Amino acid sequence: MSEKAKEMEEEFSFKCPTCTNGTIKLTKTVYDMTDGDKMLIVKFECNECMFTTNDVIPLTTRIEPGIISLQVTNESDLKSKIYRSPVGILEIPELEVLVEPGPRADFYYTNVEGILERFQNAVQIYRNSLDGDHEKQKEIDEILNNISKAIKGDFKFTLVITDTGGGSYIIPQDESKYSYQKLDTPQLSDE
Ligand SMILES: [Zn+2]
Repeated sequence: MSEKAKEMEEEFSFKCPTCTNGTIKLTKTVYDMTDGDKMLIVKFECNECMFTTNDVIPLTTRIEPGIISLQVTNESDLKSKIYRSPVGILEIPELEVLVEPGPRADFYYTNVEGILERFQNAVQIYRNSLDGDHEKQKEIDEILNNISKAIKGDFKFTLVITDTGGGSYIIPQDESKYSYQKLDTPQLSDE
């Protein structure tokens, strides 16, 4: 544990979802990132079985509107964490997929791989609805094929979040593939 991480432990009396006998211990660690941001790492551990899970929650997020993007070129990049705020537009131009702003909880907080799987699912459902439109189906199959490759790390693409309100976040596996561009909008701010 580095000096920059502060750990707090709290006992909770809720039961383990896996073994149902054990008690879940919750450990919260606040971690200071090199760029001044703070992350909260929450770890859940069962005292009876092997169940453990953790989550990373950004505590300080960029409040300025901006365009954040991540170049995904290998399998490791797929583990980069993504947090999309409700006003953020998430898109992958190379795969012709996009999530409009809105409270779509399944696109809220996940990693790149999770995003691709959700797109794959949504595109598959759309393809199945194209009854008999073979021309369109061929087009969609091409996209599905590329998404499958992307999930294996065999397709290079850019994940872009355009956030007019701020608050969206990408935690890259490889900092050099991350970029942030400030957006100037005429929106009123409380500050
Ligand atoms: Zn357990």
